[in-house]
Amino acid sequence: MKSDKEISRVERTYLLGMRVRLLKRYGPQSPPAGTMGTIRCVDFLGYIQIAWDNISGQVVVLDEDDIEIVRTCPICGKEYTGYPALSRKDDRTEICPDCGTKEALEAVREIYTVYSQNGDMTFIMEDKCNTTSVVGFYYGEPDEESTKEFYGKLTAEFE
Ligand SMILES: [Zn+2]
Repeated sequence: MKSDKEISRVERTYLLGMRVRLLKRYGPQSPPAGTMGTIRCVDFLGYIQIAWDNISGQVVVLDEDDIEIVRTCPICGKEYTGYPALSRKDDRTEICPDCGTKEALEAVREIYTVYSQNGDMTFIMEDKCNTTSVVGFYYGEPDEESTKEFYGKLTAEFE
C-alpha cells in the first residue's frame, strides 16, 4: 500500500495527457517494452492508468517502476526522459537537459571592454566556455552605448 503522501506525489508527477514509455512487460497481455502510451489518470491507490498507442481499448494500471515519462522539449522538439531542466527565461518552462546546459552556458557568457590607451581604442571582449575572444572594437574610451553598438562588429578597420 502506498501512503497518502506517496499517492499525492504520484498524482502531481503523472499528469493527464503525459507521454510515457513502457520499460518492461507486465504480463501476457503486455505490449513490448518501448511501447508509448498516454496517461489517463492516477487511481485512488496511486497507480497510473495508461492507454497504449495503437492498442485501442486497452487501458492498463501500472506502477511507476514500469514506465518512464517521455517529454518533448519545446525548444529543440526532441523527446527526452529523465528530469527536465527549467528554462532560465521564465524559470518555469521545462526543457531538455541539453537545452538546459546550452542556456546555462549562454548565461555565464561575460562581456567586458579593454581600453588601449595607445590607439585610443576600446576592444569588446567575450568570455565563453573558457575562451576569450575579441568580438568588437571602437575608437575612444569605453562607454556602454558604443559597446552595445559595436558588439559583434569586427570590420576591416581593425587593421
Ligand atoms: Zn531541447
